[in-house]
Amino acid sequence: MGPSPLIYSGVIIILVLISGIYINSAWQWNDQVRSPLLNPVPSQPLDLSSAPGEIPSRILVIINETRQSLDLIAAIPDENRTTINTVIRFEEIMTACDDQTLLLSLIADENPDPVVTSEARNGIGIRDAFLNEVYLRSDMAHALSVVVPEGKEEQILRQKHLENFNFAALPEDKKTKLMRPLENLSAHEKQYAVNQQAGNASSNLNLMSRIIADRQEIVSLLGYPSFADYQIARSGILSDSECIRQTLYTIASPICRLSHDEAAVLLKKKQITDPNATGVFDYEIALLKSRLLNATGQISPNDVSPFFPVGPVLGRMNQVFSRIFGISISPVDQVPQFSPDFTLYRITDPETDEIRGWFYLGIRSDQGLGTSSGKTYYLRAGREENGTWIPAVSAIILTTPDITDTDRDVFTQAELQTLFHEYGHMLVHSLATSRYATLTSGAHESSGYIEIPPLFLEQFLWNPEILDQISGTRDGTKMPKMMQDQIIRSGGRESEYTRVYDVFLSLLDLSLNAGNETPDFLNLYSTLYEDCTGFQSTSGGSALLMNPAFFISGNAGTYWHYVLDNAYAHSLFERFIKAGVMNQSNGISFREKFFEPAGAEDSVVRMRNFLGRDPDVIRCSHTS
Ligand SMILES: [Zn+2]
Repeated sequence: MGPSPLIYSGVIIILVLISGIYINSAWQWNDQVRSPLLNPVPSQPLDLSSAPGEIPSRILVIINETRQSLDLIAAIPDENRTTINTVIRFEEIMTACDDQTLLLSLIADENPDPVVTSEARNGIGIRDAFLNEVYLRSDMAHALSVVVPEGKEEQILRQKHLENFNFAALPEDKKTKLMRPLENLSAHEKQYAVNQQAGNASSNLNLMSRIIADRQEIVSLLGYPSFADYQIARSGILSDSECIRQTLYTIASPICRLSHDEAAVLLKKKQITDPNATGVFDYEIALLKSRLLNATGQISPNDVSPFFPVGPVLGRMNQVFSRIFGISISPVDQVPQFSPDFTLYRITDPETDEIRGWFYLGIRSDQGLGTSSGKTYYLRAGREENGTWIPAVSAIILTTPDITDTDRDVFTQAELQTLFHEYGHMLVHSLATSRYATLTSGAHESSGYIEIPPLFLEQFLWNPEILDQISGTRDGTKMPKMMQDQIIRSGGRESEYTRVYDVFLSLLDLSLNAGNETPDFLNLYSTLYEDCTGFQSTSGGSALLMNPAFFISGNAGTYWHYVLDNAYAHSLFERFIKAGVMNQSNGISFREKFFEPAGAEDSVVRMRNFLGRDPDVIRCSHTS
């Protein structure tokens, strides 16, 4: 997921491949009032207004200005190059481009005018194509490689930028050889996406083997044994696909075993009415849910919700995380809002009152949605400018399947978990303190480790002390101890199945991308599925061919990272349990060693610095 724009699709990119989580915004809700909508810092307004027709012309202006500025850098004679006129100048130019275009994702998702949302979506495509153009420039790759900065942070900055030019920096003959397979891959992936839209699974089954072959051809030209190995190298893990496979199996086996136990319980229940039944099918999981709930003694989500009233819970969450991490999170009134459902929050340093970051929080409804979902948009990265700190800005949007935005005044357990998750994305973006935007921006986090902070934050919800502080009805009734215990025992899951499915997808992703021949996908799917979950697969393989997040997204070949990140998150949280979960000096240590150096220091190094030892997640009998 991170940079290396070039390798998998013709459309790239840095920002876009990152896990569906990010970015920017700009617009207006009302034709009459053209006020900037996100304007937390009067001296540095984020101009979010946009009338129909405005985005297309604005994006061209941004691209032209950016291109001209880059040409000026390229024109500097090598002997006159300095860190300031080349590396830092490049950083400033690309950050300015980010600041103006990151907004497009939020507009594309949230603007009420369909003309504007479609313009925003096109704008993202144009921006991405332009970024491709930038990162293919060998004159830029050369310029950045000539200067060797003295400062540590500047060295990291240059390294981070240079990584995006991997392709441009290759020798010409290699580039020529790569052109054809890259074009093929791009064309095949586009067709795959078209088939998904059209619901044509069988065509995608054929395309899948061609895409696997394209990927294989590309990565072997780059010197990697498989696409998965290429993705592993890019994610910064010093390991190979065999080692990752062993690690995944170590993590997977106990989870798979629990799912098998569940399947066995369900089979017994099923045999009461159907004595000849020999297995439970995947489509029966939902049917048997109530039996499952009874069987494992868990509770109904409807009983839990009244203990999570929206307003009070948000206030308690902000208090809890403020206390733990030694920060202050408070709502800001009387700021121009882009919708009455959005609240602006300010994160400050309680000692100096210095502002660390701003974030918007919005809860909205989408009737077409089956379940709730969350998304964090990185709107502006924090950085130093002229000696002062420009705070980061982000927005969290929680979307519920309700009919109207005002339908509900309580969270479900799952929504609260999503919110904790998005807080993790938001906090790492808000609290990073590097001097340079590229390093502080979660949007530029190039490794596969970006899900560690959100998965880590989720852990807090399933802790008795935190759950006790967060929960409680509007009229002040505390959550019964028995309910708390049950919630904690379940770890937020209605069944083990939800957890095992992620593990299964990770194993499947690795099997698909780690070999050098094309597997029989449907067969691989059902064998692995039954092995891992204990349920029998029916049409799951075909359904997965229609899932845009799986085979051709930026997650391809790194899907397993989520499972690994979860193991890292557990490892980090263990220290919170040992120290006492509300222990502030432990929380501040986490903020200083993990959140603040984000981007400027590898995730693994930050974890090691916090834990005082290796996080000890990757284990295998051989090392590469
Ligand atoms: Zn996430």
